Amino acid sequence: MRRMFVAGNWKMNTDRAGGTELARAIAKAVPADAAVDVLVAPPLPYLLPIGEAIAGSGVALGAQNAYFEPPGAFTGETSIGMLKDVGCRYVILGHSERRQVLRETDETINKKVAAAVAAGLGVILCVGETLDERDGGTTEKVLETQLSAGLKSLAADAVSDLVIAYEPVWAIGTGRNATPEQAQAAHAFIRSWLSNRFGPTVGAATRIQYGGSVKPDNAAQLLGQPDVDGALVGGASLKADSFLAIVQAAQQVGAARR
Ligand code: PEP
Repeated sequence: MRRMFVAGNWKMNTDRAGGTELARAIAKAVPADAAVDVLVAPPLPYLLPIGEAIAGSGVALGAQNAYFEPPGAFTGETSIGMLKDVGCRYVILGHSERRQVLRETDETINKKVAAAVAAGLGVILCVGETLDERDGGTTEKVLETQLSAGLKSLAADAVSDLVIAYEPVWAIGTGRNATPEQAQAAHAFIRSWLSNRFGPTVGAATRIQYGGSVKPDNAAQLLGQPDVDGALVGGASLKADSFLAIVQAAQQVGAARR
């Protein structure tokens, strides 16, 4: 049975004091034995204080990006070893903002995924289509391209800590979420792609989060879809109340599935 997994992507938001307060409020409500996996991914400079604020709770620490090379002359970049050193359990890779604003290619994303997997750092790999691609009927083709390129050369036994986040670009930060049916259709497609590529065991075990304007009032319906195993939350992860309401929805759906 796949455990529900709710991750908060804080993007380039918060400051040290506000982020620490937010992390403390979340950690207080998520005990170490929580039935859901919960993660916060603060901005890079705050990883250490946020890591301290969530220590001992059921909240894990994640990073929003990494570089694939080992330490060396790469000004401004952060190695995967450094993220592990400060307590990160996961790294979010291939987010649409990095693909579109920072011009990251599938090839670069693949190098990052491979390096994180090799180092034993969990990966949340984001995939998703733009509105033009959805309207043009190419959603599955786009997902297939991003998955096959992003996971190129990876072996089935290497992807046990891999999470896919389906994030339709048109739903990110827009307040317009995918309908539960649209989310389920994309997730089922992703799962069947994973089964074909890595075998049915990996396909059945891999968690697929939905991301794109998840809020307390739509979380239960989205998370209630059979192939939706959690959420990657942007805006609503910046307030403890709204993030915890989504965590609670995941907990309820998870309990009903057991
Ligand atoms: C995200 O940044 O991954 C995201 C899904 O953002 P939002 O929840 O704000 O749409």
